[in-house]
Amino acid sequence: MTDFPTIKVFVSLGSNIGDTEDNLNQAVARLEKYEGIDPQVWSETYQTEPQGLKEQEWFANQVVMFAVDPELWAPHGFLSTLQAVEGQMDRVRGVKNGPRTIDLDLILFGDEVLEGDDYLTVPHPRAKDRAFVLHPLAEIEPDLVFPDGTSISDALKEINYRVEGDKIYQD
Ligand code: ADP
Ligand code: MG
Repeated sequence: MTDFPTIKVFVSLGSNIGDTEDNLNQAVARLEKYEGIDPQVWSETYQTEPQGLKEQEWFANQVVMFAVDPELWAPHGFLSTLQAVEGQMDRVRGVKNGPRTIDLDLILFGDEVLEGDDYLTVPHPRAKDRAFVLHPLAEIEPDLVFPDGTSISDALKEINYRVEGDKIYQD
């Protein structure tokens, strides 16, 4: 139970090294330890074809909605915490779109819009191109409307992808 007024923060989680599903669960468990960050809704875990660099394992991807206390957290601090958890889990930064133990991307922080900053763009600038973000997001928040007024269902219509069971394919 949360006893503070919260905002909805959506995080996209991805992993393609080691026990991928366990990595996703561990990342959420680590985030939950912070005061004012409370995981509330989990999408299914999907297996997704790597984008960009194809010569690597498929990813386990999931979107989780956290109830976040706005008195304790703002977008920049929240992103640093995502990066701290990536660091705790031995994420080695290297190849763009390459293999990773855990990737935590901040998709939406309530209705906040942040642009023109190298460190953080919210909503995540590539969220609307990525089936592995939009499909699980629609699963847990089907009535979602992005701050620019685009509904999640319209965003999904703009991309080519297919879902077969727990697999997401996108060229
Ligand atoms: P990827 O794009 O493959 O997720 P990284 O996780 O290494 O790559 O992130 C690259 C950079 O993206 C980070 O240095 C981070 O500061 C920046 N970034 C900008 N906006 C966001 C966001 N909304 N969520 C996560 N990272 C972001
Ligand atoms: Mg990332």
